[in-house]
Amino acid sequence: MREREIQGVIIATPQNLRYLTGFTGEEGYLLVDEQESSLLVDGRYATQALEETHACQPVLLEHGTKGVAAFLSSRNLQRVGVEAEGFSAAVFHQLRESTPESEMVLLTDELSRLRGIKTAEEIAWIREAVDIAERAWKEVVAKVAVGVSEHSLALELEFEMRRRGSEGVAFDIIVASGSRTSLPHARPTDRTLEAGDFITFDFGARWQGYCSDETCTVSLGAPSPRQRDIYTIVREAHDRAIDRVKPGVPLSDIDAAAREHIVSRGFGDRFSHGTGHGVGLAVHEWPVVGNESKEIAEEGMVFTIEPGIYLPGWGGVRIEDMVRVTGGGYEVLTTISKGMMILGA
Ligand code: ZN
Ligand code: ZN
Repeated sequence: MREREIQGVIIATPQNLRYLTGFTGEEGYLLVDEQESSLLVDGRYATQALEETHACQPVLLEHGTKGVAAFLSSRNLQRVGVEAEGFSAAVFHQLRESTPESEMVLLTDELSRLRGIKTAEEIAWIREAVDIAERAWKEVVAKVAVGVSEHSLALELEFEMRRRGSEGVAFDIIVASGSRTSLPHARPTDRTLEAGDFITFDFGARWQGYCSDETCTVSLGAPSPRQRDIYTIVREAHDRAIDRVKPGVPLSDIDAAAREHIVSRGFGDRFSHGTGHGVGLAVHEWPVVGNESKEIAEEGMVFTIEPGIYLPGWGGVRIEDMVRVTGGGYEVLTTISKGMMILGA
């Protein structure tokens, strides 16, 4: 606050509310100023806020955004930082109109960095999420067979994760097969599996709010030589990137380790996304592991390494693991082997 010369900050993303106060509700507003911290919630969350929060005062909010503006006015702050990610343009506009006495400053990077370095407790929760998701996946992959649909595999995977205690899914499960594996973020369809398909599973569980995120691409029946080649290139790119992870290394170098390998094999224009992203209370959070990243790897960061090659009309491969930056290098938190898994067709 001192650096930005603001006297208060208002925060509204559920992840930051949970991180800072323990409140797990979907909606609320945390106003932190130099004197106190107040969590504004409406009637739906009044009891929950009292039970869950620490280090802040729950305040019952009436009249939605107007109520937030009225509370803000009562605090009499000259300059207020607003969590950019937490407010729609419409609400931000309304807040600004209703509190002309306060200047509003949008905060972006300052807040996204907050959760970037994980504590031992957070790491333990992430490990639990990984464990739930992986045990569920192992159950489901045994059911992969010719004639089974992408939809049913996605549904089974969600069911198995929830049955093991996952708080819902960390994100919509991706199950893509055959030529649909060329869509990096495919939605499961009623397409049924055929012999010779690659199947990409991208899935994550949630535990204590913390997410896991992992991608396995498996082959139903013997892969063709081309499928083997593509898989091997992605696997090598993945391994090279992970081997670069160490405190002090620019995240752009980690991206380059994967990207340069894929470029050298002639598929540079088929690797259409960044190499990875931070994972925590949100499945995609700071930092980004990409070619434009300015961040440096630090002990305690948790991010994914997930290169892929996507050939429209043919198919694709993505391989994703979660790594934690340790004092001397890295630890891979996900444990499913990324050697090519060939299932009987
Ligand atoms: Zn993923
Ligand atoms: Zn991911």
